[in-house]
Amino acid sequence: MQLKDQIALVTGGSRGIGRGIVLALAKEGAKVAFVYHSNKDAATALEQEVSAAGGVAKGVQADVSDPAAAETVVNAIVAEHGRLDILVNNAGVIRDKLFVRMGLDDWNAVINTNLTGVFAFCKVAADQMALKQRKGRIVNISSIAAEHVNKGQANYAASKGAINSFTRVLAAELGARNVLVNAVAPGFIATDMSAAVRNMAGEDNLKKLIPVKRLGAAEDIASVVVF
Ligand code: NAP
Repeated sequence: MQLKDQIALVTGGSRGIGRGIVLALAKEGAKVAFVYHSNKDAATALEQEVSAAGGVAKGVQADVSDPAAAETVVNAIVAEHGRLDILVNNAGVIRDKLFVRMGLDDWNAVINTNLTGVFAFCKVAADQMALKQRKGRIVNISSIAAEHVNKGQANYAASKGAINSFTRVLAAELGARNVLVNAVAPGFIATDMSAAVRNMAGEDNLKKLIPVKRLGAAEDIASVVVF
């Protein structure tokens, strides 16, 4: 087990890529807390699945777009375990629309969750990891949408491009304090988030665009995060 008794926090852990990350971290021996937004049943099912496999995972309801949530969630983990070793900022949303139809509400919903939420969790985690522990790992989940142009994703692409820039600066600032900060940018992964595009474009058409000729799975991203 590579991560035995490490204390980990994954945002957006109840479904999709985040769920895969929770399972993979727990399998490597980490004690995992994960944030979900509204899907309590999925969170409970994941807790039970991890527990049945001999691991530890605990779901916490919070809205990452509320900057106060980060403090509440991280402080509770530190109060219980005395530290936070690993933070994975995975929670994310899309509100795809052509720009002429995109309103400020669509912009704010995506930026507040995908970018400001990451800022808030990194801020509280960095205080703990860099200033108190002098040790930690942060992984921010970006997207190829940051570099690859997808019409209808001006808000989402802006959030993920900013995550890449933000992550590079944090890596430079926190590295000297033994806090390693990385981003992982998935391609097309079969989750609820990508279901609408899969249905619209057709899976066979999408596979033609992917060099390995298959959609990614949550496990593909989870193993990179564990690394
Ligand atoms: P997903 O299947 O839609 O799952 C999203 C997860 O985030 C759920 O656990 C959801 O909780 C949680 N969440 C959403 N908004 C939240 C909020 N405001 N506060 C707390 N939790 C929130 O998404 P996914 O496809 O796994 O995507 C995960 C990450 O990978 C995102 O950052 C996404 O941008 C990125 N990504 C995905 C793909 C892809 O093809 N799927 C590609 C590149 C990057 P509930 O279950 O409670 O709703």
